[in-house]
Amino acid sequence: MEIVKHDIVENIISNIDNKDLLTILKPIIIIYISAKTIQFIANNYKIQKDYTLTNMTLVNKRPEFNHKFSDDYKAELLKVQFGKHVLDFLNTLEQEIPNIDLSLLYKHLSNFKIIYKNFKLENFFFKRGIIAKYNILTNCIEIDKNGFNNVIVHELFHMASSFYCQDDNIVYSGFSQFSKKTKKDIGNGINEGYTQLLSERYFGNNINIEKSYSLQVHYVQKLENIVGNKLMEKMYLQADLLGLIEELKIYENIENIMNFISAMDFIEKYLTNKNNIYIKKSMISEKLTIINQFLISCYVQKIKRELDNQVISVKEFNELFYNYLKELGTSIYFDGNKYTYLDVEKIKNVLVKTLSNDLKLTISSKNK
Ligand SMILES: [Zn+2]
Repeated sequence: MEIVKHDIVENIISNIDNKDLLTILKPIIIIYISAKTIQFIANNYKIQKDYTLTNMTLVNKRPEFNHKFSDDYKAELLKVQFGKHVLDFLNTLEQEIPNIDLSLLYKHLSNFKIIYKNFKLENFFFKRGIIAKYNILTNCIEIDKNGFNNVIVHELFHMASSFYCQDDNIVYSGFSQFSKKTKKDIGNGINEGYTQLLSERYFGNNINIEKSYSLQVHYVQKLENIVGNKLMEKMYLQADLLGLIEELKIYENIENIMNFISAMDFIEKYLTNKNNIYIKKSMISEKLTIINQFLISCYVQKIKRELDNQVISVKEFNELFYNYLKELGTSIYFDGNKYTYLDVEKIKNVLVKTLSNDLKLTISSKNK
């Protein structure tokens, strides 16, 4: 829910290293095309089935809501302090994504507050760099005067995608959920990345949006390549994390989905947090590996299906796959450290596992 300013984060994406990929990719593409090779490895590969659903119990189905907002209210909105910013935001969303239900935004428009706050003292004590915050319980955006224009959109997206349900005591916010009872949260990494992605997508041309959460933005963009923009936007604005999980189940098992979500949460929490000196470099790399392997696995299955259904050719399959891997890269440089998360072996492992699962499914359905 908070927006944090980090000068270094802006450079993360440009620092993704992919120069090794050219050499890496050749053998992989050959592996894919040579189905016999996969068949051989598939026979030796055992699918692990004994996963637990512990983390999944944290995810709840969002409650139903239906709020309308009439044009008369828009005129009223202009009279409220900062109402013009909010009205601009509302109009842009209604125009750009006309088919998406904006119930949550409408719900919050009747009694929101936007106030200036100096975060200096708070930042000093907690050693962080917050410049804006949205509190769903008070429906209030607190914002630093200096960063007003370029972060307000990010916070308004939180407002447009959040919902507090008294019945289960859970804050549903975009792709995250926070239980006020257990104090546990889930999905923050994906949620912050997607909040920022939408801010840049719909307002980046007009406002100089403050760059933040760059790495998270990068990964949710790759996630969008799998799920699809329109569906992701819809699920986000309806605070439907469970919907996203259901969608990903098309490609992955629940254990891997939950591992991906928590790895994104880990990166969100620890990559830029200077307080956590105990977090080892290897732990960051490990989580980045989980994220990247998950994305590759889902994406490959998606384009494999397109190939099977003759939507794309083998040549297109290889091109799509190559470009996707190239954009993921193999390592990043951050804060003076290099984190390597992919190499030939890791990519091969994902491919063999992903495509052999596919083969096994084909085999077992034939046996029936
Ligand atoms: Zn945020």
